[in-house]
Amino acid sequence: MNTTKSAELFEKAKTYFPGGVNSPVRAFRSVGGNPLFIEKGKGSHIWDVDGNEYIDYCCSWGPLILGHANDTVLNAVDKTMRNGTSFGAPTRLENELAELILSNNKFIEKLRFVSSGTEAVMSAIRLARGFTKRNKILKFEGCYHGHVDSLLVKAGSGLVTFGNSSSAGVPESFVNETITVPLHNREAVEEAFKKYKNDIACVIIEPVPANNGLLLQGKEFLNFLRDQCTAHQTLLIFDEVISGFRLSFTGAAGLFDIQPDIITYGKIIGGGFPVGAYGASKKIMSCVSPEGPVYQAGTLSGNPVAMTAGIAQLTQCLAKDFYVKLEEQTSYLVEGIEKVNSFKLFKMFKLGSIFWIAFTDKKEITSAEDIDANSMSYFKTLYHSLLESGVYLGPSGYEVGFLSSAHSKEDLDKTISAFEVALRKLLN
Ligand SMILES: *Cc1c(COP(=O)(O)O)cnc(C)c1O
Repeated sequence: MNTTKSAELFEKAKTYFPGGVNSPVRAFRSVGGNPLFIEKGKGSHIWDVDGNEYIDYCCSWGPLILGHANDTVLNAVDKTMRNGTSFGAPTRLENELAELILSNNKFIEKLRFVSSGTEAVMSAIRLARGFTKRNKILKFEGCYHGHVDSLLVKAGSGLVTFGNSSSAGVPESFVNETITVPLHNREAVEEAFKKYKNDIACVIIEPVPANNGLLLQGKEFLNFLRDQCTAHQTLLIFDEVISGFRLSFTGAAGLFDIQPDIITYGKIIGGGFPVGAYGASKKIMSCVSPEGPVYQAGTLSGNPVAMTAGIAQLTQCLAKDFYVKLEEQTSYLVEGIEKVNSFKLFKMFKLGSIFWIAFTDKKEITSAEDIDANSMSYFKTLYHSLLESGVYLGPSGYEVGFLSSAHSKEDLDKTISAFEVALRKLLN
């Protein structure tokens, strides 16, 4: 495989950006080698600058549920763009996307558009604190919520901890407002509520944690959190930046039929453009400025081009059986790979159109500590073999894969064969 041009561009990029990238995982550090510079994408396929073609299961880390360069999205965007790209004043398009979302989602009554998932989470936390007039937040080890200061916290030792910052530049005093507990551990949550009874503004969780492997929690645990939060007048935030419009149109809340107090969205909502959102009941949302005292704003919030892409994408997601078909495709892929994986070198975990490969003997992996960091060397071998066979995954064994509606049966069969080749290499 010739990747000379990518390598050259990466060398140049290193002189411009820290690590040569504008977001860390893109640098390929966990799988080794140089990142591929992408030239173009269409449907389920992408092409790098050296002309190599890949079937893409990264899908821009989830947003592209229809695949790349979807014609309907492109045409709509093109039309909107010609009328100007930003006004900093309301447009009809914001109403349209909001109407599309709210009329098909019984879990939120009002929302606010922002420009990224991080921004959505950051605002949701502020809203929860403003609404409850409490300061502390509870998060789970192994959940990612964007690069919000108070959420860049990893667990310390002990079941219920204030943890340590997982990034330099986050003050100790911020970390002291964040309680960290392991996923799928009722005892830890109960202990946290006992210890900080009337201080916890919100519990935030990825209802389907998919940023550190796929750590399936199940409906019972989420229901337990719902009950705990209700009992302590703490708000439950579902961070559905990855699961929203992915597991169903109404995300994990819809899939499990659990009513959180605030939901955050990102990724798919913008049809490939930078959009995020947070939503809640009218009562909670009335705390947001200018109606209420919780300040939150954005120069490019509700950007007309991004709104248009969101409308064009989400309208297609509402088609009958859209999610059923996507899940069938994913099952076909996962079952096909499992079949060629006859020595059970790894396990596949899957929900809806999200899948994850874990080199493990464990039957279930429900918390971050269940993941064997040493196993990532096997993923590295798998990863590069798949690349050579024309299959592109997110470049880390902690990342999940995504299917889009553009993935064809032929793509899936090719991918299964690529796994077969990779498995042979792994066995040698
Ligand atoms: C991707 C992601 C974020 C951050 O979104 P950005 O758009 O990258 O800022 C937050 N929470 C979850 C669950 C995510 O998957």
